[in-house]
Amino acid sequence: MKKITILGSTGSIGTNTLSIVKHHPNLFKVIALVANKNVTKMLQQCELFLPDWVAMSHEKSANLLRQKLKDRKIKTRVFFGEKAICELASLSEVDQVVAAISGIAGLLPILSAIRAGKTILLANKEALITCGRLFMKALSSSKAKILPIDSEHNAIFQLLPIEMQKNLGDSNLKKYGIKNIILTGSGGPFYDLSLSDLSAVTPIEACSHPNWSMGKKISVDSATMMNKGFEYAEARWLFNALDSEIKIVIHPQSIIHSMVEYHDGSVLAQLSIPDIKIAISYAMNWPNRIYSKIDFLTLLKKKNLSFFEPDLVKFPCLKLTIDAFSEGQAAMIVLNAANEIAVSAFLDFKISFNKIFEVNIATLTSSSFSEPNSIEDILEIDKVSRILAINQVLSLSL
Ligand code: NDP
Repeated sequence: MKKITILGSTGSIGTNTLSIVKHHPNLFKVIALVANKNVTKMLQQCELFLPDWVAMSHEKSANLLRQKLKDRKIKTRVFFGEKAICELASLSEVDQVVAAISGIAGLLPILSAIRAGKTILLANKEALITCGRLFMKALSSSKAKILPIDSEHNAIFQLLPIEMQKNLGDSNLKKYGIKNIILTGSGGPFYDLSLSDLSAVTPIEACSHPNWSMGKKISVDSATMMNKGFEYAEARWLFNALDSEIKIVIHPQSIIHSMVEYHDGSVLAQLSIPDIKIAISYAMNWPNRIYSKIDFLTLLKKKNLSFFEPDLVKFPCLKLTIDAFSEGQAAMIVLNAANEIAVSAFLDFKISFNKIFEVNIATLTSSSFSEPNSIEDILEIDKVSRILAINQVLSLSL
């Protein structure tokens, strides 16, 4: 039986992970759960999964949860704050840590899990976007493993030879006969709109992804195609890939979740209905597979599968991210911070959709940081960049 900790258990990835645990109580035991301040959901999860430990980011939420658990005679011990979260990410009795805290708050717990040699099921994007170099270096000097949960990276992972799967980050694509990684993306909800129509789209429209059910931030990133740029960056680190070894292809149906092209001309693809539980389930059971209790793909019901080049003019955030990656880690930290501020301003109706790109590029251009050498440097660049981005939002506000 695998013993697991879920960082971000009350979110979309966390609840999907727990639904797999619920269907397979003989395969997984939940040891620890972590969240920010959603006491109601955490209480339900404690009642159902009886974890030994819980940590909430907020002290008040932890106190409230502790009281409610005591009233129900549940013995889960409750802690609060970043230090406790990092401790739960590195518990000696735990085999797998699901890294699904959203945003920069996920970084320190992931580093703690890497240093403790855990198998990390990685959903949090910021880990590789902002700390790719640092985290992959830490990984190479520990016995920790990273198994990607994001559907595209999980698909690529599934298509790699087992030896490469065992040494993510270290291996050489050429050595394993791989010519290209083909990262697919749906193009988001606005792929068919004209450039001028894009300026008038609303947050509700931006959050209505045609194929995937996700949180608001990642849905807007999908609509600007910033998300595909971030995935490009993650793929560069995870698969130790050169820029010339990654191709991005728009595939509106989201049936193929990515492909790997080998030197002999074979292209392997991973297909399924768009349900993140498939990727989570593969990572949880790797290298085996289990019955994941989701719908199967009926190819005969699919009329066609189509593929296009991404439109970098209509979706300039994609090219901006690819260019920032080649500038270095500092540029990626700035871009990630600026984008988070810009998306939140868009969701609050403070700026229009097209201005997300403007905030991002203006923040990048106005910053000049040296390359970070530590997690502290990374957090500092993130903090200063957020201030720069807020100023850009104020100057562009509607
Ligand atoms: P959600 O917003 O749904 O959930 C975020 C989780 O993180 C919640 O449990 C939240 O707790 C917790 N959290 C937030 N801040 C803190 C903090 N400071 N300390 C501790 N816990 C915190 O996000 P998702 O589940 O959608 O995504 C998680 C990560 O995975 C993101 O980085 C996302 O980009 C990535 N991802 C998501 C995919 C998806 O399909 N959803 C696909 C691929 C990647 P609380 O509920 O208490 O606020």
